Amino acid sequence: MNYDYDVLIVGGGLVGGSLALALADTALRIGVIEAVPEDKRIASSAGDRALALAWGSAQILGQVGVWQGAEKKAAPIRHIHVSDQGYFGKLRMSAEREGVPALGYVATARTLEEEVALRLSQSPVTMICPASVIGLKAGSEAVHVSLREGNESINLTARLLVAADGGNSTVRKLLEIGQSIRDYGQTAIVTEVNTGKSGDFTAYERFTPVGPLAFLPVAKKRYSVVWTQKADDAAELLAMPDSAFTDRLQSAFGYWLGKIALASRRQAFPLKLIRAERMADERVVLIGNAMHQLHPVAGQGLNLGLRDVAMLAEMLVARLAFGEDIGERTFLERYAQARQADLDRVIRFTDSTVRIFSTDFAPVALARNAGLLALDRFLPGKRLLAQYAMGLGNRIPRFG
Ligand SMILES: Cc1cc2nc3c(=O)[nH]c(=O)nc-3n(C[C@H](O)[C@H](O)[C@H](O)COP(=O)(O)OP(=O)(O)OC[C@H]3O[C@@H](n4cnc5c(N)ncnc54)[C@H](O)[C@@H]3O)c2cc1C
Repeated sequence: MNYDYDVLIVGGGLVGGSLALALADTALRIGVIEAVPEDKRIASSAGDRALALAWGSAQILGQVGVWQGAEKKAAPIRHIHVSDQGYFGKLRMSAEREGVPALGYVATARTLEEEVALRLSQSPVTMICPASVIGLKAGSEAVHVSLREGNESINLTARLLVAADGGNSTVRKLLEIGQSIRDYGQTAIVTEVNTGKSGDFTAYERFTPVGPLAFLPVAKKRYSVVWTQKADDAAELLAMPDSAFTDRLQSAFGYWLGKIALASRRQAFPLKLIRAERMADERVVLIGNAMHQLHPVAGQGLNLGLRDVAMLAEMLVARLAFGEDIGERTFLERYAQARQADLDRVIRFTDSTVRIFSTDFAPVALARNAGLLALDRFLPGKRLLAQYAMGLGNRIPRFG
């Protein structure tokens, strides 16, 4: 059979775009179907959100040629400081102690998106944009995709379709793959602040009775803030004048960084844990947020998505070398199996962090505090956590 493409990727976001780049130099014909034109995507205010990237994610972005340009605009995380408002427990980790230049990095989504778009424009990957998937039929030989591109309807065939179309995935809906959803009833307020003192590139995670508060370094005296709140409280905070909001933020965070001043507008992201019931189907595989959408508390969503990319790219490259069918179901199920443990672990970790740290019920608060104190003094445990934060619990697949 003649296929229009070997691999069609639906969604040219950070995950879909990275996969396209990972496969760009192979013999595979790659097409990316993206609904939103590049200039609109890059200009979107959601691009302001700062992403904490594990050291392992920077390695993956390096393999796809994105990190080389993005690193200049990213800030290193040299220390991590975890604390609990109103309690003594603290946990500190440092890059120096781990013998690495950085525990991770912070980059805005826009910085990474710009770099992905630039690399794609220089690659042989075909961008089909703006176009949306409206129909899908997967059979044992090929997957047939119907698109709407402007007023036109287009039909394409491929050996493999990769759904990287985000948390509201159309592909997942068309395939009637169910999902489990946990609505935390929380909203993340995202903004940036200038600080009175330099935090020496420390990332702060502070647990407050209403939810976690993260300060991520973007420059010496500038921090990106992700403040998780109950949905109703978030609405109130979002409606406040800047000065009142800053006062509330300062009292929740404290004076670790001196006096803080609001430096950008506030944005709201409702928080849910969404997990698709299957990762693979006939000639279709789900990656990134299309498969799993996490609470940003532990900064794991993109990190997990990039590990999906790296594993899938490595397995596809190996399969190609043996001249075997890259869309065959048993192969895709092997990929799903290979990703299962990492996915389960990250979801468990993120979900329990949200639940344990979103309570001021005294026994739980005391127990978590004792845990922070104990962990800070227990070097092997701390090292394990630092390795986890760096994304080193996982082997980094090689596909280049
Ligand atoms: C406030 C906040 C803070 C976060 N902080 C972190 C962090 O510190 N670290 C971290 O690792 N992660 C973090 N995340 C998570 C991270 O942003 C996401 O996991 C990541 O951006 C998901 O990328 P994606 O490419 O899978 O999905 P998306 O970014 O949603 O991309 C999907 C793409 O598919 C396109 N699309 C959708 N439907 C169609 C269709 N029918 N046809 C064609 N194209 C379509 C969309 O236009 C889009 O370009 C955070 C998230 C939030 C909300």
